[in-house]
Amino acid sequence: MGRNDNGAVCHHIIRVAFESAADAEFDYLVPDELWPIEPGQRVEVPFGKKNRLEIGFCVAVEDRDCFAALAMTQAGGKQFKLKQAAGIIDKEPLVGAELMELARWISSYYVCPLGQVLAAMVPGAVKKGAGARTAKYLYLASNPDGVNETVTHLKGSRQKQIARHLQEEGAFDPETALDLQTVLQAIGCGNESIKKLAQKGIVKIAEKTILKSLPAIPKAMVIKAEKVVLNEDQQRALAHIKDKLDAGKFGVTLLHGVTDSGKTELYIRAIELILQKGRTAIVLLPEIALTAQTVQRFSARFKKIAVMHSGLTAAQRNAQWHKTNSGEADVVIGARSAIFAPLPRLGLIVVDEEHEPSYKQDTAPRYHGRDVAIKRAQLSGAHCILGSATPSLETLRNCRHKKYFSLVRLPKRVMDLPMPQMKLVDLRQGGFTRDGVNLISEPLAAHLQQILAKKEQAILFLNRRGYSNFIFCPSCKYTLQCRNCDVTLTFHKPVLSRVEGSQLAGRVLTAARRHIDYGYAMCHYCLAQTLVPDKCPLCGKRMAMIGLGSQRLEEEVARKFPQAHLARVDSDSMAGRDYYRVLNDFSEGRIDILVGTQMLAKGLHFPNVTLVGVISADTCLYLPDFRANERTFQLISQVAGRAGRSVKKGMVFVQTFLPDQPAIQFALKADFDGFVEQELKHRKACNLPPFWRLAAIIMRDQNFEKLELACNRMRRILDGIIDTKRLKVTVRGPMPAVISRIQRFHRMQIIIQTPQAAILRDLFNALRAQQPIRPAVKVAIDVDPVNLL
Ligand code: ADP
Ligand code: ZN
Repeated sequence: MGRNDNGAVCHHIIRVAFESAADAEFDYLVPDELWPIEPGQRVEVPFGKKNRLEIGFCVAVEDRDCFAALAMTQAGGKQFKLKQAAGIIDKEPLVGAELMELARWISSYYVCPLGQVLAAMVPGAVKKGAGARTAKYLYLASNPDGVNETVTHLKGSRQKQIARHLQEEGAFDPETALDLQTVLQAIGCGNESIKKLAQKGIVKIAEKTILKSLPAIPKAMVIKAEKVVLNEDQQRALAHIKDKLDAGKFGVTLLHGVTDSGKTELYIRAIELILQKGRTAIVLLPEIALTAQTVQRFSARFKKIAVMHSGLTAAQRNAQWHKTNSGEADVVIGARSAIFAPLPRLGLIVVDEEHEPSYKQDTAPRYHGRDVAIKRAQLSGAHCILGSATPSLETLRNCRHKKYFSLVRLPKRVMDLPMPQMKLVDLRQGGFTRDGVNLISEPLAAHLQQILAKKEQAILFLNRRGYSNFIFCPSCKYTLQCRNCDVTLTFHKPVLSRVEGSQLAGRVLTAARRHIDYGYAMCHYCLAQTLVPDKCPLCGKRMAMIGLGSQRLEEEVARKFPQAHLARVDSDSMAGRDYYRVLNDFSEGRIDILVGTQMLAKGLHFPNVTLVGVISADTCLYLPDFRANERTFQLISQVAGRAGRSVKKGMVFVQTFLPDQPAIQFALKADFDGFVEQELKHRKACNLPPFWRLAAIIMRDQNFEKLELACNRMRRILDGIIDTKRLKVTVRGPMPAVISRIQRFHRMQIIIQTPQAAILRDLFNALRAQQPIRPAVKVAIDVDPVNLL
């Protein structure tokens, strides 16, 4: 076929998608010397007017006529010259055919450029080849028979020794080659002799990429497998799941079981069944639930397991990915992005805590891990198990209306343990003084004292980081605001130094270091920090702090219970590994009280915890979001599930200023069905999910006038599409977002409501066709948003 300008012969054309925001794919000629290229491999190609070399994913491959014809039609019959690919980055595709299809679906459903989706699918550590090194291997060039003669003719005795050694060890080809370093050590010589041998053509050197084999689970944490006898409910549920797995086709089972009803045990049994069929499984957990405990339980039962979470180093992550890709692992357990694990023969996907909002990614691609899991299961003909004690309204509704969804309940705790006793503390009845000094009410404090005396443990939970979320001047009402964002700053006390931290077990606080009188103010959105002024910059009076935060709670507990060992768990106080260690200390009784944010609410199992305190049940309710009730209910139920996970009776204190709030009332009675019915009625009346679909278009810019202009233009384009296509859509906005400025960018949003997902797709397809490649302001589209902030 033809030659192009450079004279290279090109028989093939590839289509390339880039990570940069361009929402389009581009065709390139492939010089024959670069062929073959497969979809999923990354290539280097010239891009833009200046032909800068950029890296993109090859997403399709055709012989030249096909695409060329297509390119012609796209250009309205005018043929244009294709550029030539410059190089190949990956030896093998990073994204296989099945994941490529999934990427296309995500790109379409979540309105995100395909190149960005692909970039997000493959961990950065894999793209960089973190922890990989090339090792050199040696083998004899001549065949076994010729060796003796060659060797006798060799001059240097070292060279002879090396050749003999290779001969004795049978290193005659790249497969049987010996590691160069090992050979050098065995002979006790330097590189020189080997160079000479190679120059003479007697030995050959092969290169292999070696990944350090890094266990993702510390050895000390591996526990014994204990196999339990399933109770009646579990047996019934497993029989249901077994039927589905035997059918061997796509389906979804919602496993609705109260905390401690034995769901995790069932996931494990289901995985055993699917492995017996020669297929593989992925288990998704919210990042914060990926504790040592959960990982331990799975790794005790499965040998070929890969783990993926943020606590791993880049090298570990790369090693885990390759373990999966090469088929060395047949079970992958991980957070949201583990849904992209390159696992062949996928037969089962488990999504634990399926209602968790953290499954939604908040940067592009803004996918929901659970929904992508369901899609991937469908593409692989796999079964998907969604588990939760408080399933999302979306999933509950799917169970009622979609034929491939089914529901199984586990209504009781295993071994018939009683649910913990719930006690409401009405904070309006005193206890909470106005300056917020008493985060722990008297009844809670009294009970805490009792259980500590019995050497039992407690978890105190406050869903807000920092020390105080308002720093203000009581006399002129000046509040410390972020310079970049429309939010108040949160006061933080400095974190312990590393040395101090490791001297104490975990981050156990002792009375000795309770009072630190300095700190800094931090913005939780842009992470900017400033020192806190002593005096008000406006009127010169002393600044005060109000509001609550986990740090302040920690301080109060330390003051009131000086004899207790205490640790705080939140994203300020610890990175992944510290977190594992503290939980370990807690489970072994070296810590009496754990204080923390929602990191504590998930999946932990501590039999000796008999008291859980919800310091403020109201933190979610104040959020201007339609899911506030649902979140509040989930949170209280989830936290409550941490108490009394053994024969010892558990007690839960729920402190609130809004004791009559229905979500709190239903949660207190553990009346899930009651809550759901009431909430569904409300959602239906307002055309909200799960009945209607939502999407938010969030636009931002530093210049407000420019932003407003762009938003109004967006609204006109939307209206135009809706009119021409006669779509059933409600559009609200543009209006300022709840947080109207973040990192100096003003934020406005347009909310779109439609009764069906298909309408949303039509609308966005049309919008994408009209969008310029570089819009004037930053535009983010969030389909099925989990909140509207
Ligand atoms: P969930 O995931 O619903 O919270 P788990 O599967 O973690 O529940 O079970 C809670 C605890 O009970 C675990 O320690 C588990 O090993 C144990 N367990 C589960 N099923 C049984 C059973 N049938 N008999 C005895 N113990 C069980
Ligand atoms: Zn800020």
